[in-house]
Amino acid sequence: MADTIETIVKRRPPGREQRVDADICVVGAGMSGVSAAIEAARLGRRVVLADASPAVGGQAVGSIIGTIIGLYSHGENAYQLTHGIADELIEDLTASGDLLRRHSTRTGTVTFQYEVMQLGRWMERKLEDAGVRSLLGATLIDADFANRRLRRLRFATRYGVVDVEAGGYVDASGDAVLSWQASLGVREPTAPVYGSLNFLLEGYDEERVARIDHEEVYARLRERGAAYGLVRHDGFLFAFPGKGSALANITHFATPMDPFGASDMVFEGRRQADAVVRFLRTEFPDMFAGVRVRHYGNPGIRQTRWIVGCRQLTLDDIRDGERPRDAVARCAWWVELHDKETLVHWESFPDGHVYYIPLSCMVPAEADNIVTVGRCVDADAYALSAIRVMGPCIAMGTAAAHALDAAGSEPVIEVDMAALQGRLRDNLERTD
Ligand SMILES: Cc1cc2nc3c(=O)[nH]c(=O)nc-3n(C[C@H](O)[C@H](O)[C@H](O)COP(=O)(O)OP(=O)(O)OC[C@H]3O[C@@H](n4cnc5c(N)ncnc54)[C@H](O)[C@@H]3O)c2cc1C
Repeated sequence: MADTIETIVKRRPPGREQRVDADICVVGAGMSGVSAAIEAARLGRRVVLADASPAVGGQAVGSIIGTIIGLYSHGENAYQLTHGIADELIEDLTASGDLLRRHSTRTGTVTFQYEVMQLGRWMERKLEDAGVRSLLGATLIDADFANRRLRRLRFATRYGVVDVEAGGYVDASGDAVLSWQASLGVREPTAPVYGSLNFLLEGYDEERVARIDHEEVYARLRERGAAYGLVRHDGFLFAFPGKGSALANITHFATPMDPFGASDMVFEGRRQADAVVRFLRTEFPDMFAGVRVRHYGNPGIRQTRWIVGCRQLTLDDIRDGERPRDAVARCAWWVELHDKETLVHWESFPDGHVYYIPLSCMVPAEADNIVTVGRCVDADAYALSAIRVMGPCIAMGTAAAHALDAAGSEPVIEVDMAALQGRLRDNLERTD
């Protein structure tokens, strides 16, 4: 018999918050927050990266987004717009066979299909190597904000309350939770911007699906989709060649900000995913007779709540492509606004068109030591629908790390712009 294991009786002591100091606290471990945290740690900063989920990766992993877009300009001579951790990501995951680059001759876009779990593991390794202190399963529940500065954030975890005090903060939450908890002004759209629950399919004819005619599927969705309980008439099926699974992005539902509504959308997303399976089996039996869901993602949320920044990026700004004085990132992705249940509103730009993201749309107007990144920066609904994809999310993360590092204890919006842009030269000027 093994040694006996005794027990001891414990009782929760009162007032047991843990307090942690950092130079920079990043809230949200999706693509934009991971980029900000790694870059800040590599600048020698003590970084705490907190996320409500029990693992890093945000939507890129948990919602099975499956393709990274917005990293390149468009057209025959497309070039990489964002470097930093993007270079390592491309190199490492390509070498391990977990990233597939596709340059479409039809649209001119460059997309990277990735293996979701491997991207998550890659993020974990890079965060550890950079010395980032991760705080997972930690939901932001309170912020101490006074005299334009955020002083402390409070997180609830399964194991107790944790307070993080930092000099600078990055809001990579997707929902502007730092501004919200600090009672700063935030923007919400007056009509829904629809989310989607992505899911992986298996058990289909791989050869036929590789040649699938999406237009035929859309026509059938328009005619017959409602009979299966489907609302969307467009979407995508991406097969990762040789992996035996295809990613489906064909559902649409509102993404409310109240806790019960947000819980309902999990079930609604999965209900629609099951309806897609019935639709494919019945309408396209030659390809999909045996298809089934291998894995449901978490609901994918596009645009919910974002900051009121020092400036708002507009659709005209991104159409013009003029470089603003405080440009810190570049993008070329098209307008992709999910403003209708049935269809996505697209606006494409000519090949080679590039536009810029200014620091002023990443800094809340009422705060001096917060930089926002990812899908909750200040832009009108159309411009936000273009810059919220993962390429510019990585670039905004890099910019936020350098801006806070360079600003020190001064207001981040007053940072020496020439020096900051010098640090970000690769992401603003390289065309190779
Ligand atoms: C269905 C769908 C398909 C998409 N397709 C593509 C695509 O093909 N290619 C592409 O590049 N982009 C795509 N996008 C866009 C892209 O995935 C996201 O906009 C991007 O991943 C956003 O990254 P993020 O880091 O800003 O936020 P998220 O990935 O949303 O990360 C935010 C993190 O903050 C955490 N958080 C939120 N609130 C709190 C809190 N109170 N306390 C603690 N943590 C909190 C969350 O747990 C989450 O991990 C798609 C989006 C959707 C929804």
